[in-house]
Amino acid sequence: MHDRADNTGGVPVNDSEQDLAQAEAGCGEIGLNVPLGHPGGHPAGIPMDRQRHGGARSVGFQPGGGPAATAYQERTGIKAPRIIAWEITRSCNLSCAHCRAAAEFGCYPGELTLEQIKDVIDDIVTISNPIIILTGGEPLMRPDIWEIVDYCHDKGAMPVIGTNATLITEEIAAKMAEHKIPRISVSIDFATAEGHDTFRGEPGAFEASIRGIKMAKAHGVGVQINTTVTKLNANEIEQIHDLAESLGVDAFHIFMLVPTGRGEQLLDQELPPEEYERVLTWAYHRQKTSPLHFKPTDSPHYYRIIRQLAKAEGKKVTREEYGLDAMTRGCLGGITFSFISHVGDVQPCGYFDMQLGNVKDRPFSEIWTDSKVFNELRDYSLLKGKCGACEYKAVCGGCRARALSVTGDYLAEEPYCAYEPKGWSAEAAG
Ligand code: SF4
Ligand code: SF4
Repeated sequence: MHDRADNTGGVPVNDSEQDLAQAEAGCGEIGLNVPLGHPGGHPAGIPMDRQRHGGARSVGFQPGGGPAATAYQERTGIKAPRIIAWEITRSCNLSCAHCRAAAEFGCYPGELTLEQIKDVIDDIVTISNPIIILTGGEPLMRPDIWEIVDYCHDKGAMPVIGTNATLITEEIAAKMAEHKIPRISVSIDFATAEGHDTFRGEPGAFEASIRGIKMAKAHGVGVQINTTVTKLNANEIEQIHDLAESLGVDAFHIFMLVPTGRGEQLLDQELPPEEYERVLTWAYHRQKTSPLHFKPTDSPHYYRIIRQLAKAEGKKVTREEYGLDAMTRGCLGGITFSFISHVGDVQPCGYFDMQLGNVKDRPFSEIWTDSKVFNELRDYSLLKGKCGACEYKAVCGGCRARALSVTGDYLAEEPYCAYEPKGWSAEAAG
């Protein structure tokens, strides 16, 4: 298989760890950014049956667990995609500071038609039964969204929605339930209206999003809150968590900034690596007592930090104790996760600023299988610098989009990681 122990560059990673590392979907998209679903337990904390649920897996859906995926994996030796984030429109009613898409109000030329979207879904389900994250822009601005949702269900994929929630009315919340959306994700970056509205570029956005979240919950739709951590809000993460808990949402996912799209304007606001380490350590400990499911996202080294902190506590990161956090890998872009842009460009994730093909010209399944970049991302032996030398690369791997953005090389070391791998010497490495 492309992504097993023979691709780890000689670092001793056993097969089962490698399998576990890839057994579950990892990081996704901002705005929806979701590895939706309920990936699992809390490290030595609240038992899984007391955590809130809501999500694709909570309704028994196993992304990439169907016969098409099994056959594809046997035929090619490549994992089938488990989560595909799909920017079904770039139009948006807000202008958020950190937006990957740098989206604005208005139509964008070249967006896929409903028929083209159906054709792509027909192709995708020949190799997998993924969760399809319908994102944007603001996906609720697309008038045919419910037809897209129904088509995903009809073909055996699981649609979920990444939305700013400001457009959710009673009618739309009811439609989400009627069309069997298990979860939506909503970005809330500050605990108060003042901070959030400034960041979102829209007075009233905070109240509108909170209202939308409440309506979705009232109609039985699961809600995940996403928070992008920067210098602007790093000191109010606890308050944002408490807000999420008080709203009765199901999951709280913190995101590290990826400096692409409009997020480039926030470069001055990115935290130094040591501060991200502090935030991720907070997440590990806070999860022990929170009823929400945490999933630090675009933060692959969280899976290194889990192991370091567990070891210090005398624990092993097992599925029994840590749930699916023990089974996921930090960055899964190109491994079990992919992104399709509003015009059909295929990328490892929405932040990875490189187009590997376009679904208008070539089936997604072929791009997933044949792309040189996808195949290089699946081969951990190709990682460079600290990541290449790191004993945690099988469970972390570093953010390839940040490496690309900062160095121009997607295989270079993760620029936001403070860890020095054992025996690593930057000077010796040249
Ligand atoms: S050096 Fe790279 S692989 Fe190792 S923990 Fe840091 S980001 Fe992950
Ligand atoms: S490249 Fe970075 S942003 Fe993209 S999926 Fe991996 S960790 Fe997330």
